[in-house]
Amino acid sequence: MKLDVNALRYLTKDDFRVLTAVEMGMRNHEIVPAELIGRIASLKHGGTYKVLKNLLKHKLVHHDSSKYDGFRLTYLGYDFLAIKTLVNRGVFASVGRQIGVGKESDIFEVGTEDGTVLAMKLHRLGRVSFRAVKSKRDYLRHRRSFNWLYLSRLAAIKEFAFMKGLEEHGFPVPNAVDCNRHCVIMSLVQGYPLLQVKELPNPDTLFETILGLVVRLAEHGLIHCDFNEFNIMIDDDEKVTMIDFPQMISVSHRNAQMYFDRDIECIFKFFRKRFHLSFDKKEIECDDSDVELGGSCRPQFSDINKVSGVLDKELEASGFTRKDQDDMEKFVDGDVEEDLGSDSGESEDADDTAQHINDATLSGFESLSLTKEEGDNLHEGDSEANQNILRQHTSNEARQSSEMAWEDRQVEHHDSSADDNSEEEEEEEHDDDPELEKRLTKQRQRAIQAARGRRKGITSRNSYKDKGGKSSHNSKIQKQLGSW
Ligand code: ADP
Ligand code: MG
Repeated sequence: MKLDVNALRYLTKDDFRVLTAVEMGMRNHEIVPAELIGRIASLKHGGTYKVLKNLLKHKLVHHDSSKYDGFRLTYLGYDFLAIKTLVNRGVFASVGRQIGVGKESDIFEVGTEDGTVLAMKLHRLGRVSFRAVKSKRDYLRHRRSFNWLYLSRLAAIKEFAFMKGLEEHGFPVPNAVDCNRHCVIMSLVQGYPLLQVKELPNPDTLFETILGLVVRLAEHGLIHCDFNEFNIMIDDDEKVTMIDFPQMISVSHRNAQMYFDRDIECIFKFFRKRFHLSFDKKEIECDDSDVELGGSCRPQFSDINKVSGVLDKELEASGFTRKDQDDMEKFVDGDVEEDLGSDSGESEDADDTAQHINDATLSGFESLSLTKEEGDNLHEGDSEANQNILRQHTSNEARQSSEMAWEDRQVEHHDSSADDNSEEEEEEEHDDDPELEKRLTKQRQRAIQAARGRRKGITSRNSYKDKGGKSSHNSKIQKQLGSW
């Protein structure tokens, strides 16, 4: 399965100017009026409509004329904006096949000029959420604008900042290379998710290494919150790499203990089931002196010496602000009660679907030799004039109120067509590897199915168990309103 980036090479600077204008308009419009796009893009000779037609043809924007003539970015449009920026920065030069899929992310191989293969994670926080709001009419009453761009970008910024911070403190994580919009570039892990590992010569040793990681994280002030066999990669030498950080929280979070215990429980449960480890002795709670894991006790949150709130502060300095953290935590908090007592270790039947393909070569990569046009393009957030256009546009009260009314209807419309839209947007080129394609499709279906039933949001995004509980997703969304 490939991300079809072919069109990227043929897009002109006007195409990108208009695409960026749509992106900017989406800060306060779910569907951006065509006229506003024209004003933001302010192409020298007009012609925004013609450009929009071209973007539509390539499925980079979606047209909606139910209330007025308007457009929104598709996932692909947002992907293109991020990819173009990163390619122009020289971060990578080609895009290869898809190597992973979560319920709210897609992971691809990308190749650098010198032939190194990296991993590109595209966050898709709206993928499931849009469907979720279908049955959550409540939130519409207070909504201003729920925006998947904002949430996906936030997840990427956080993941990048955490990966970098953890790496600097010697944790086994991928090397964080760069980040733009909803896209994180990191080193490719040469290994397999623990989920796929059927036999181990020494499961006890690996078990203790992994538990030791949860403890060391807490000592540094952090809890992973989705520490399970999907997010722990193992290589042939049993070296462990942990991945997937958007849901991490501080040990000072009000539900820290619950999340810590849940991470620990996931590991116990998986090793018990998969490797038949017996924890009769291990599960006896130990006293303070044993927290270092003599290998024979279950780590207790209260026993851990959480010395370093330092990492939180460092992370803040790295671009992930306090407000971002608050926003993310609110989003996570909405699911907290849902998650109590849950487990994500029930994954036996998902084994064969989470196949990770590791034979990274550059054959089959779409090379992207783009002309550097950054200077001519609009930049998200950097044009005072465009900020003014946006402000003026939204300060028009009469218009705004009609838009608000429209927006509410629009979301319903959006919801009911969410499945169609995502089909259309997720339409990808399924070539060279039908086996991989089948596996990934199955994997995504399971992930989305699980998410639909369980509404865990980013709290446990790789947990495939359908708990079927009632969701508090709308409260999460409400808390996000107006953040854009
Ligand atoms: P999600 O947040 O959607 O769960 P993850 O970051 O866990 O996304 O990635 C999903 C899958 O993609 C992983 O289970 C793994 O198989 C693969 N993957 C993610 N990051 C990398 C990486 N850096 N190298 C190799 N494979 C990766
Ligand atoms: Mg994951």
